[in-house]
Amino acid sequence: MKTRLTTSAKVAARLLREGGTVAFPTETVYGLGALAFDAKAVRRIFIAKGRPDDNPLIVHIADRSQVSDLAQKIPAYARQLMDAFWPGPLTLVLPRSSRVPDVVTAGLDTVGVRLPSHPIAHEFLREVGAPVAAPSANRSGRPSPTSWQAVVQDLNGRVAAILKGSRSGVGLESTVVDCTGRAPVILRAGGVTLEQLREVVPQARSSSEEDRRRGRSPGLKHRHYAPRAEVVLTDTLPIPAPAHSAWIGIGASPKGVSFRRSCKDLREYAHEVFHFFRACEAKGIKKIYCQSIPLHGMGVALMDRLRRAAAGTAKLRG
Ligand code: AMP
Ligand code: MG
Repeated sequence: MKTRLTTSAKVAARLLREGGTVAFPTETVYGLGALAFDAKAVRRIFIAKGRPDDNPLIVHIADRSQVSDLAQKIPAYARQLMDAFWPGPLTLVLPRSSRVPDVVTAGLDTVGVRLPSHPIAHEFLREVGAPVAAPSANRSGRPSPTSWQAVVQDLNGRVAAILKGSRSGVGLESTVVDCTGRAPVILRAGGVTLEQLREVVPQARSSSEEDRRRGRSPGLKHRHYAPRAEVVLTDTLPIPAPAHSAWIGIGASPKGVSFRRSCKDLREYAHEVFHFFRACEAKGIKKIYCQSIPLHGMGVALMDRLRRAAAGTAKLRG
């Protein structure tokens, strides 16, 4: 398949409406979209990514009025969260309407819905005029793409088009919140923190072991975010650092590594991490040391991605 690179939201939307898969920029990471109500089109996302079919997709919308086509029984606290965080990096998991095909939700009785804030994403979704199912636009298991060049690396020749925009602002995926119970429960940490959610709904909480056992967010069990180099989460580097090793973290960078990225704060670390993983591949880095950080605010989402990237590369080698 020839992949069209375009800066026109209109052209990209037309190709998507014709049943194609189209990658587009959002404030979290780039997404790979297809018409959410067209099961055949959505299946093409799974094929292009090599994505396991038990991993549900998030449905993206341009306007809040579209929620009622996708979901039913929306609790009052979910509406409060929409008021506070939409448009933005928050996905709400709601009881699904029968119009949503099984392939989108991996057979679950819920659907994840998000209204992105990125202006190009918004223009594209408005041009499409219908909900767009879209996971991250990477080959399954790889680091999420935060630039259109990263999408080209993973999906060129496998998708109908790539809508080019600038680097994604947040750099990590959306926060996924289960809104089917009495209070919101975070299924996946992301761009909106628990502390921010609690300012709006004080009962909001992170998922417990029990929630995880019940498998409320099935995608979490798959290998994720792993570059070709080995990822090591650490506070201290071996001296001397091994050949072809790299480091990313906050503040002064350690000596001895061949490639490094020193970030000024947590936000910048989150923004840079997936980009850095891919830059390491281009430089033939074999081992990436990632500084561990305290588990509050955005630190929760970033540590989640780093841990899973490290586990993913360990598994590749194990
Ligand atoms: P991605 O956009 O590639 O990060 O993938 C979407 C992720 O959203 C999945 O891996 C799940 O963790 C989550 N998700 C989407 N829909 C649902 C749902 N109905 N219930 C629980 N989690 C969901
Ligand atoms: Mg993903």
